Amino acid sequence: MPIKIHLDQLKNQDVHLSGELPAAELDLAIGGPNDLIRSTEALHFQLDASRTDDSVFVHGSLKISFTCDCARCLEPFVHTMEMPNWSCILPLKGDDAIEVIGEYADLTPWMREDILLGLPHHPLCDESCRGLVFKQETLPAEDVEETNRWSALDQWKQQR
Ligand SMILES: [Zn+2]
Repeated sequence: MPIKIHLDQLKNQDVHLSGELPAAELDLAIGGPNDLIRSTEALHFQLDASRTDDSVFVHGSLKISFTCDCARCLEPFVHTMEMPNWSCILPLKGDDAIEVIGEYADLTPWMREDILLGLPHHPLCDESCRGLVFKQETLPAEDVEETNRWSALDQWKQQR
């Protein structure tokens, strides 16, 4: 179920919404082959909505966790995004009026947009992460590769 507000109900009283939205419903389209953000957990939300004649004001907190690869050391880690003061104003009239389907307004697109804007371009497991340079001192991955390449060449020579 998308996160929807019943607009008629809002005429009489403010509405509180809370729960979680499965990652599939939020549909952030992340996790591509070159994406450092691998996957996302469900979105947790606690929201209050109130209505005036021509708009709906929604205010509350959002929380969502992502599994990321660190941009420096490539180690996986969990990045949690918290928006304790998230809000949006949904216009009900005019050119920017939101789409209302059967008296319901869908909040999901507004949340999706703000979450995407808040995602780090270069996720880091820690601000002080020293990255691959540090790791190579203990794990000479390139040397191993180099050795393999030469032994492959030797084998090729021997086969001739
Ligand atoms: Zn790192």
